[in-house]
Amino acid sequence: MAKFYKNSMVLCFWVVIVFVISSASAFTRLKKFDHLTKGDGTLNFLVIGDWGRRGAFNQSLVADQMAKVGEKLNIDFVLSTGDNFYDNGLTGIHDSNFVESFTNVYTAQSLQKKWYSVLGNHDYRGNVKAQLSPYLRKIDSRWVCLRSFIVNAEIAEIFMVDTTPFMEYYFSEPKDHTYDWRGVIPPKAYSANVLKQLEKALSESTAKWKIVLGHHAIRSVGHHGDTQVLVDRFLPMLRAYDVDFYMNGHDHCLEHISDTESPMQFLVSGAGSKAWRGDLKGLNRKDVHFFHDGQGFMSVQLTPTEAEIKYYDVSGSVIHRWNRSKLLHSAI
Ligand SMILES: [Zn+2]
Repeated sequence: MAKFYKNSMVLCFWVVIVFVISSASAFTRLKKFDHLTKGDGTLNFLVIGDWGRRGAFNQSLVADQMAKVGEKLNIDFVLSTGDNFYDNGLTGIHDSNFVESFTNVYTAQSLQKKWYSVLGNHDYRGNVKAQLSPYLRKIDSRWVCLRSFIVNAEIAEIFMVDTTPFMEYYFSEPKDHTYDWRGVIPPKAYSANVLKQLEKALSESTAKWKIVLGHHAIRSVGHHGDTQVLVDRFLPMLRAYDVDFYMNGHDHCLEHISDTESPMQFLVSGAGSKAWRGDLKGLNRKDVHFFHDGQGFMSVQLTPTEAEIKYYDVSGSVIHRWNRSKLLHSAI
């Protein structure tokens, strides 16, 4: 009897150990938001980045033009590429910067849609948990901000990725900035897990259009230029899973650059307020189709087989337009 009791205890011990190990290594999938579209097989949305300055630095002028385009296209939602609240994110869930830079600026009826947002490096300088808090949706129900997640919009899946923790220099050379790294320490393990989650999600996606969105550029000829760590760690995966578009902000400009080894397009929309930086890197690159060193935003119109991208300046003029047909493309 004593021997049976002892064996049972040993068995229980190993069951607990196996459970603890498997729990610790459990793979968590990216949270997915199903966004029902208009039901006619189309999807229209706006993309903006680097914007929250309480309406100043032309943020309100850009918002006025977004309102007009949003109405004309009857948009389904807005995507934000991060650096949502300057200069240092939000101080807490009651920070007036949230209402003054978001609710009180994007007031038009056409913009009363979900705003799916990632964090930028400036957001990490504030209270990140506050900016990610679902409590903000009680103040403004449009706000959906997570670190990494998926928007499933029927014909398109949009993979929103938290790129700031991939940048080692924010950790090693913070200068006079203080970052809120709660939840992303150690960054090597965190970023490895983000990549694992992204690869799993991309491998399972059956969407007609696959879009990955982060704050930092893979390709850019703006102030920050290409981001080597993303070129090394994201680009091969995005090519392997036939991602159509990589979208980002961080550089305060509008850009359209083609990948040299796949049909993927790099679309930069980080011009929601401050711009006119005035420094360019390699504008003569043959993969660069468009660069605008000024404020503006981007619209995306998708059908199951067609994509149309448009860039708008601060006066609402279309300053670059690009189309793709999936059928034509696959026939080439
Ligand atoms: Zn940034």
